[in-house]
Amino acid sequence: MSRKVEIRNNLASVKERIAVAAQKAQRDLSEITLVVVTKTFEVGDLEILYELGEREFGENRDQEASKKVEQLPDDINWHFQGQIQSNKLKSICKWADFIHSVDQIKYAQIISDQCQTKPKSIFLQVSLDTPVESRGGVDPVKLENLALDISELPGVVIAGLMAVAPMNNEGVEAFKRVQMIHSNFKHKFAQAKLLSAGMSGDFETAVLYGATHLRIGSSILGNR
Ligand SMILES: *Cc1c(COP(=O)(O)O)cnc(C)c1O
Repeated sequence: MSRKVEIRNNLASVKERIAVAAQKAQRDLSEITLVVVTKTFEVGDLEILYELGEREFGENRDQEASKKVEQLPDDINWHFQGQIQSNKLKSICKWADFIHSVDQIKYAQIISDQCQTKPKSIFLQVSLDTPVESRGGVDPVKLENLALDISELPGVVIAGLMAVAPMNNEGVEAFKRVQMIHSNFKHKFAQAKLLSAGMSGDFETAVLYGATHLRIGSSILGNR
């Protein structure tokens, strides 16, 4: 089987599963965005995805992503979703249309400094881990203050929240929790409509609990 056929089949199957989950949740499919997580995969795979109509790609390394961005058409939305390093953020701001993993004011400040003329959409990453903040993300009890501080900064738009399910996630609890956190958050930050949650292992559950952005890599492109 050619790589293109393999990717096309995997993509069709993932999309079908998203559609089924959306129907179960009585949600409109148009409010759910599939971000294909292309990190570690070669440019040829991204070209195939592009030919198949995909326009939302997720990357987690600045150097790797910068090279890919140069080689692909410019009607793609690039999502940065890895752990942020201050010294890379300036470069990330050049290519990323969305930054998913902001969890500290110092990162938002750097983004603000870079994006005065063209505001950048960010997601605030919420930690669902025990101990809290052990794998990145802000403690949910500190989320509102962080968002208030970031709201003061020009050039940064809080588009929504992002979360990674805890290790050994047993199913729905983490997603229920993040949906609740997001729902409360939207009362105060009405523009923060998006919720980035759900990966290859759990995206159907994420759809049931309100995710608008699914970050899916291995189910489409294979194991890294
Ligand atoms: C790698 C990664 C994904 C994609 O994971 P898969 O299991 O390959 O679908 C999603 N989100 C984040 C933050 C990641 O680092």
